[in-house]
Formats: sequence, structure tokens, C-alpha cells
Amino acid sequence: MSVIEVSSFAAGQWIEPGAGARNIASAITGEVMATAGNSALDVQAMLDHARTVGGPALRKLTFHERAKMIKALAQHLGQHKQELYDISFETGATQSDHMIDIDGGIGTMFVFASKGRREMPDGNIYLDGDIEQLSRNGTFLGQHVCTPLHGVAIHINAFNFPVWGMLEKLAPTLLAGVPAIVKPATNSCYVTELAVRLMIDSGILPTGALQLVSGGIGDMLDRLTCQDVVSFTGSADTALKLRSNPVLMREGVRFVSEQDSLNSSILGPDAVPGSPEFDLFVKEVSREMTAKAGQKCTAIRRVLAPQDQVDSVIEALSTRLSQVVIGNPRLETTRMGALVSNGQKADVLEKVAILGKEAERVFGDPLNFQVDGADREKGAFMPPMLFHCANPDTAERVHDTEAFGPVSTVMGYRDLGHAIDIANRGQGSLVTSVITHDPAVARDVVLGAGAYHGRIYINNRDSMKESTGHGSPLPHMVHGGPGRAGGGEELGGVRGVKHYMQRTAIQGSPEILSAIGEKWVPGAPETKAPAHPFTRRFGELSIGETLHSASREITLDDIEHFANFTGDTFYAHMDDEAAERNPFFPGRVAHGYLLLSFAAGLFVDPNEGPVLANTGLDELRFMKPVSAGDSIKVRLTVKKKTRRTDAYGEVRWHVTLTNQDDEKVAEYELLTMNAY
Ligand code: NDP
Repeated sequence: MSVIEVSSFAAGQWIEPGAGARNIASAITGEVMATAGNSALDVQAMLDHARTVGGPALRKLTFHERAKMIKALAQHLGQHKQELYDISFETGATQSDHMIDIDGGIGTMFVFASKGRREMPDGNIYLDGDIEQLSRNGTFLGQHVCTPLHGVAIHINAFNFPVWGMLEKLAPTLLAGVPAIVKPATNSCYVTELAVRLMIDSGILPTGALQLVSGGIGDMLDRLTCQDVVSFTGSADTALKLRSNPVLMREGVRFVSEQDSLNSSILGPDAVPGSPEFDLFVKEVSREMTAKAGQKCTAIRRVLAPQDQVDSVIEALSTRLSQVVIGNPRLETTRMGALVSNGQKADVLEKVAILGKEAERVFGDPLNFQVDGADREKGAFMPPMLFHCANPDTAERVHDTEAFGPVSTVMGYRDLGHAIDIANRGQGSLVTSVITHDPAVARDVVLGAGAYHGRIYINNRDSMKESTGHGSPLPHMVHGGPGRAGGGEELGGVRGVKHYMQRTAIQGSPEILSAIGEKWVPGAPETKAPAHPFTRRFGELSIGETLHSASREITLDDIEHFANFTGDTFYAHMDDEAAERNPFFPGRVAHGYLLLSFAAGLFVDPNEGPVLANTGLDELRFMKPVSAGDSIKVRLTVKKKTRRTDAYGEVRWHVTLTNQDDEKVAEYELLTMNAY
């Protein structure tokens, strides 16, 4: 096999390995298969390129345009998946591991693309939360907004997920409008390089939006400013070294960290052998031990079972693990491939020796196991190994030593409180799970363990068919954990995008806030429409454009008619005396839905026109009852416009109903789809 020269992509140029390059061995054969790194890389030029070319180009795009770009990248990578699969085998990963890394990474991009379109504006300023009332008369208001940082995101990734690890950071970064310099772990950087090449060659990204360092980053971190972000995944030791860089501390550079984690899984006290939960627990634990040969930041390292179930758990896990076929990951029959390198294997064996001082090995022998289709001595192969720690209270190392391979330790607990204490002794983890059919158990775990874990995964017979697995971080949910896990938080939908934006508290008048947010704020000037707004196309409508309707009196006949027609004969609308006894009503009142229906009758234009559909109604509040003899009128204002396709867009209307004394009786937001 010829040696792959893994290049960096710096300031628009592919730079081949040079002085200081490192050899990379195949996980399967142990032979050198690639080389990467070049100490002559001009890191300042890379930073300049990102800051002066990539950043401005990305910031010109709206959130929706960036979301479309991310979707196009995901589609493009999807079309080239096979090439990525083919090369990824060399990292020791099996085809099902590729599904996590490659398909999982692409899927994450799709979710961010979709969230960007649905949850972010088709503009450049993200509104974070609602308007804050800062004054009595509403002439001075507050609004938090997020705008993209003007610097560059440095993504330093671990070896275990060369594609997902990059894409899960890249998608939120690009959506924010910030360029990235990706530095994958050298051991598996040839896979990342291919994915970057595919994205660059697609021509979808603006120049400077994405650069790659294969090998070391030199003194890049010493050149960062408050506009840059470092997002790191890897070991706690490296994280500590990097985050204590004096320049990062002096400049207040954001540092998002995701590192070692002694994750745990709790078998609920109710989940006895023979129950669906017991079997599910065994399945989840063995899957987490063997997927990616246990090289997952979320893998279950500590297996917690009720004391009297420990033997059954060990027996069931051993049976399952004995069926795991270890071998060349290219073989279809292989269930577990190799660790990424012999260096990593040596590291895991060292950690296993440490664990062995406090726990007994009950399954798996690193000196005696079968490997199919590869040389056991040359490749970085290792069998799954299960330990039993009889005394988790006095043990220390089982709670702080992460053997980053197919290694877990079973521990018995006395009661649920004890299980929670043991789970929390990891001093902060990415995920803990509890397999239980008892909601009270789940609630106690959340209350007792929530503070120590970034994610709590609860599974049982009801959810097991559709559940996504203890070890899968989802783009919708936060991924990260306190303490030992790094204190970071990635993903979590738009939350993850905010790491790359600055939140700013904006204070000003309604008119000012409307203009900044491109969203009408009550109190801002209204503009009079040149024609009925329902006759105007999406592109013609302007924010603040307002229609004032005629007024309509509500009669007792209307109320009776509505009640009999709809069947809503609730006493407050029908029985004067009963309604009077109710503290909210002066006597019989009109139905809220009657008011909404009459409001529609007052503001619609009946003719066929650009309004295609009424798609919803948000934040409805009834503020004052309306009695027979009162009259209502409607104010309809264009609050926000969101392009959906080239053919139509969503218009959000602010609707206020007032009575004859100009008092508000109801308020809501109406959604319509309008043609362009
Ligand atoms: P490392 O911490 O060694 O490396 C992580 C990343 O940091 C790599 O890209 C590495 O690059 C880079 N790096 C290392 N030193 C520096 C430096 N001085 N300046 C800039 N970048 C640097 O972790 P590994 O990926 O090698 O994994 C080792 C251990 O980390 C595992 O055994 C496991 O315990 C833990 N880990 C934890 C994960 C988690 O999410 N919880 C995920 C993966 C690993 P390079 O490869 O070029 O050295």
C-alpha cells in the first residue's frame, strides 16, 4: 500500500506534509499507511485568511442562506459516503462504526440546516428571547441579540470520530457565520482530510470558510483574540494544557471543552432478570463496550446494578460479549474492529492494569482472544474486558481512570441513593443512563444525579424500539458535561450555534428594536398599507404595515347562535346568574372563539389572492371579557416575514382586538402563508 500524504488546507492552498511530519500506522496491520504534518505551515496566514476572507463572506449570508449551504454540504458528503467508508476501515472502524461517524456526522449537518431554517431568522441578527419591558409606558425596551464573532473557530478534535467530530462542530460554526480551522487528531486525520477535500471541491463554501491542519498547529493558539473560539475534544490532560495557555486566558478566548468522562449506566431496582429492562440493559452495555471498540466519549465505563443482580448482570454480559466477533473491520462478519493505534492499545492496557488493582477481571483476556482476518499481534486489536469492583465505596481508580477501549466495570449498589452516589463519583460526566420502568426511579435519578451529568438517558420497554442509544449524542440535545467531562456544552440545537456568537443586550425604543430585529415590536410606528394587506404579495408587505378594521357589535343573539351552532354551551356564555358568581365575569359573556371568528370576519379580504393558507395562531390571550352590547375592532400588523420557499413565505401578524373603550380584549399572533 502506498503511503498517503495527508495535506493541510491553508489560506486556499493544499500543503503537503513537510518537515516534522508524523507517520500514521494502519490500525489493522500496524504498518505505516500515511504521513501528516508540516512545521512550516504559516498559521498566521491561515488566521488572517479566515478573519479577512472567510468571516466577511459568511457574515454576508443570512442564517437561512448558511443553513442551505450546510444542507448542500451534507447532501454532497452523502453522495461520497462510500469513499469515506473505504478509507475509514484503516482506523479500525467497522461498517456499523462508520454509520455513527460518517452517517451520524452528515445527519447532524442536516439537523442544523433544518433548525437554522426553522428556528433562526432569514436575516443576520438572532433574537435571543423575548422583549423585556424596561419602562412603565413601553417606550424603552430591552432585547438580547446574537451576532457572529468576527474571528475564527479553532476545532481541535479527538481521533475517534474523524468525520462526526468535525461536522458536529462545523455545522453550528458555519450557521453562526464564523469560519473554521479544523485540526483533527493525527491518528485518523486522513479520513478528515478526505471529508474536507470533498467539501472544498464541492465549491459550496465561500473561500476561507474552512481550513484544515493535518498534524500540529504550531503556535496558532498564541495568536488568538477575544473574537476567536477554541472548541476541543480529547483528553483531560491536553485540555488542561491548552486552556491554561496564557494568551487564551489574557484575551478571554472562549474555550469549549469535551474530555474524559467516566460515564455510568444504572440498572433500575425494578429491572430484575426476565424483565424487558434487564435484557435491554445488557444489550445497551455490551453495545457501548464494543461500538468503535469502546473508543466513544459516551461509552459506559461503570455498570451499576442492584447488589443482588450483580452476578446475573455479569453472566448475561459475558454471554453476550462472548458472541462478539473481533477482526478485520472490512469483514462483514466482524462485530468489533481494532483500536485506532498500537499506542492507544498500550494506553488502554496500562489503564486496565490500574483498574485491575481495584477490580477483578471477569471477562476477556488481552493475551488470549481470536482475531479474524488480521494479525492479532500487528493490528491494535483487543477483546472486550469486563471487570467487577466489589467495593465501589473505597475504590478510587474505577471512578477516575478512563480506559478508552472496550472496558467496563460492574459495581453493585445497595439502594438507589447509593447508585446515584456512585454515578456522581465520576465527578462530572457526559452521560449517565438508567434503565427502569418506574417513573419514580427516573425522577430520583434526575434530581440526584442531574448536577453531575450533561445528559441522562432513560430507557425501558416503552421507548426501547425507537430510542437512540445511551452513547449517541443528538444534534437536538446538548452534548457535554460538568467537571471531568470538561464543563462544555456542544450541540443542543441553536444553543450550540451561540458558542460562536456574541450575545448583546440591546436597549432602546420600540422603533429602534423593530428595525434591529426586523420584527415589529408593539409601540413601534405603524405604516398604513396602500391596499388591503391580504391583497399584497409576500415581497410587497412591509414590517409594521397595519390594517384597522371596522367595529362590530356583539349581540345576545350572536352568543346564543354561536353556542347552539358549535355546541359550546358553557355556563359562562348561557347562564347570567352562574356567570356572575364567577369572579372573572360580569355576567354572560361572549365565547373567546366567537371573538376570534368575528375578528377574522373583520380583517379578511374575501377574494382569491396572495394569502394561501392560515397556518396557525400563537400566544393567544383573552384579556377582558366581552358582553352583549359591547363592540370589537381589530388591528392587524405585519410583525415578521420568513421566506420558506421561492414560491411563498410565512407572515406573522400581530393581532389586537379592542372594545369600544379601546381596551384590549384579546391579542395573538396569526400565521399565514403568502405567495411571493
Ligand atoms: P488528545 O488529548 O491527545 O488529543 C486530542 C486533540 O488534541 C488531538 O487533535 C491532538 O492532536 C490535539 N493536541 C494534543 N496536544 C496538542 C497541543 N499541544 N496543541 C494543540 N493540539 C494538541 O486525545 P486523543 O484524541 O489522542 O485521545 C487520547 C485520550 O483522550 C483517549 O485515550 C481518551 O481518554 C480521551 N478522549 C476523550 C474523548 C471524549 O470526548 N471524552 C474523546 C476522545 C478521546 P494530535 O493527534 O496531533 O496530537
